Amino acid sequence: GTIADTLTRGVENVTDTLTESFFEPSIRLGVTGLSRAGKTVFITSLIANMLDRGRMPQLVAEREGRLLTAFLQPQPDDTVPRFDYESHLAALTTPEPVWPDSTRAISELRLSLRVRPVGLLAGLQGPRTVHLDIIDYPGEWLLDLGLMDKSFAQWSEQMLGRMGHWPGGEALAGQLSGVGAQEMDEVLAKRLAAAYTEVLHAARADGFSDCSPGRFLLPGEMEGSPVLTFAPLPLVEQPARKSLYREFERRFEAYKAKVVRPFFRDHFSRIDRQIVLVDALGAIHAGPRAVEDLRQTLADILTAFRPGGNAFLSQLLRGKRVEKILFAATKADHLHHTQHPRLTAIMEALTRDARDRARFAGAETQALSLAALRATTEQVINHGGRDLACVRGALLNADGTRGKQAAFYPGELPEDPGHLLAPARQGAEKWLDTDYKVMRFAPAPLSLKPGEGPPHIRLDRAAQFLFGDRL
Ligand code: GDP
Repeated sequence: GTIADTLTRGVENVTDTLTESFFEPSIRLGVTGLSRAGKTVFITSLIANMLDRGRMPQLVAEREGRLLTAFLQPQPDDTVPRFDYESHLAALTTPEPVWPDSTRAISELRLSLRVRPVGLLAGLQGPRTVHLDIIDYPGEWLLDLGLMDKSFAQWSEQMLGRMGHWPGGEALAGQLSGVGAQEMDEVLAKRLAAAYTEVLHAARADGFSDCSPGRFLLPGEMEGSPVLTFAPLPLVEQPARKSLYREFERRFEAYKAKVVRPFFRDHFSRIDRQIVLVDALGAIHAGPRAVEDLRQTLADILTAFRPGGNAFLSQLLRGKRVEKILFAATKADHLHHTQHPRLTAIMEALTRDARDRARFAGAETQALSLAALRATTEQVINHGGRDLACVRGALLNADGTRGKQAAFYPGELPEDPGHLLAPARQGAEKWLDTDYKVMRFAPAPLSLKPGEGPPHIRLDRAAQFLFGDRL
């Protein structure tokens, strides 16, 4: 093109951005949580229920009939993978529904809403467009923030300490001691990194949450690269230049600079509103240690929302902050609704420290329990003269298909959440006096028959808290 072309294009771009920021506000909504917390199901269900309205009565703009249309649009960030909404929805809405593939990396989707303004303005102004940019990213990546102010030696010490509790961890710790002074050897490096990754996966499967570096579990496109090929090592005093210790230390620093920093700079720092999804029931099922580990991990994750505590982050954010944070316990449909307040209380207790701190930093916070997609119905069963509040659904077979229908009594959650979090319980392998069990249900075929209730639990409340005030 000519210079004139370039100039006019330049001007168009400028007006585009101006128009967008002045007249079409956008809200960047972060959705995070540890792997299997329910991010993919949450986003898919949120979008489906926004596109096809009538099932979100607690979203005020919808109840007031001010949500005119909702539609998907190309997202603003060209280099971020698009959230694969259509495939996920297709998995959930076939006659034999299956759970969609879980989040592996960051993705994004823009949902645009045409909204009629409230009250007086309604007569004067036409409908407005509000863009909701939904950013899905693994909570594991937030844990990496904790690496930014640690040296390789400090991080190694911490992880080697934790490893003792993990399946296979002790054996690996044995292997790692003494190798640091050896000469760097790529085959050995690869073997140690693979063994460390395997132990991290086993720890996760066992209910342990803090398994850093986050990308070892969810590597994305960096799989196999040197920044992901290291492991913690016991301190080596004055390591030789070509030693394994020196090289692992260098890779650890490269991981911080080339993996962690860009994520926080390019994505995290731009989030306005955030939901943190937590599979609290899963941890309760796994036992006291897993609950305590989850509590600590949440506290670590949530330091990301308290930038004052982290020099790297406060420099990056320069005063910008997340305005609202919602902590949501997922899969509440595993419990009869009479147990939901207890689940919410547990969620509140798990995040209390973090919420106090976030509030201090100016963000508004709330805790609730929800089910993005209900897989069960409620049923009261009389068992030996006692009424048991059960949930009923199709059990999930090991291969992901639907198994037989079962009514299920998960036991009672403790009335006092402190009971789950008491220090005395942390050493115990099992809960002493709760027989709490969890099951996996297959997704139910969507039935929107009247009287069966909405296909979600409190998704609309979550939406109201997260962006209802901007509609
Ligand atoms: P992600 O790793 O955070 O993206 O987690 P997913 O959204 O893939 O959810 C992980 C698994 O949790 C799913 O495969 C389901 O088995 C289960 N799950 C998620 N949301 C719900 C829900 O609302 N109800 C029930 N019953 N199960 C759910």
